[in-house]
Amino acid sequence: MNGKSVIFSAPSGSGKTTIVNHLVKIDELKLEFSVSACTRKMREGEVHGRDYYFMSAEEFRMRIDDNEFVEWEEVYKNHYYGTLKSELDRIWLKSKNVVFDVDVIGGMNLKRHFGSNSLSVFVMPPSLEELEKRLISRGLDTPDKIKGRMSKANYEMKYAGKFDKILVNNDLDRALKEAEALVREFLNK
Ligand code: 5GP
Repeated sequence: MNGKSVIFSAPSGSGKTTIVNHLVKIDELKLEFSVSACTRKMREGEVHGRDYYFMSAEEFRMRIDDNEFVEWEEVYKNHYYGTLKSELDRIWLKSKNVVFDVDVIGGMNLKRHFGSNSLSVFVMPPSLEELEKRLISRGLDTPDKIKGRMSKANYEMKYAGKFDKILVNNDLDRALKEAEALVREFLNK
């Protein structure tokens, strides 16, 4: 089974999760969020099976060995994230389209895997300075973690041109509308 998918990638803090959450609420797009597996700790307010399938590194490794992932990655040191094949079947069997919220390398790997059945979108923050401000103000990370995310962001920005579309998230309302238009155009093709 191989239906359509939309891939959103961006440096962390660019607003891609807000965009994806907006899109899944638009019923006619028939999008369903691909819940990734990950080994990091659950944050307050997160729900197993809704935000992630939280699992131990041991279980994650076992699933790699059993070839259960479409793609997986050590996104941050000792923190593994990946897309399970079973997740795609779960969504496509309902005749829905898959939407991914993954990091930049994961996004490129998914695009390579799904080809023209997928649309890959790079969400670009207005600037690295603005990105740092957003990471600080959302208050989820220690200064050390923010440093790590910023150095990763610096590196990830270099890959924007490899995506089908670049969406600049300068003004959130506008970015949401643009995202909606891009997805509509792709799904109606
Ligand atoms: P967080 O820990 O903040 O939820 O996510 C960290 C990063 O991992 C984000 O950039 C997120 O998009 C990315 N991510 C989430 N799921 C996956 C996945 O299945 N594969 C890859 N490659 N990255 C993922």
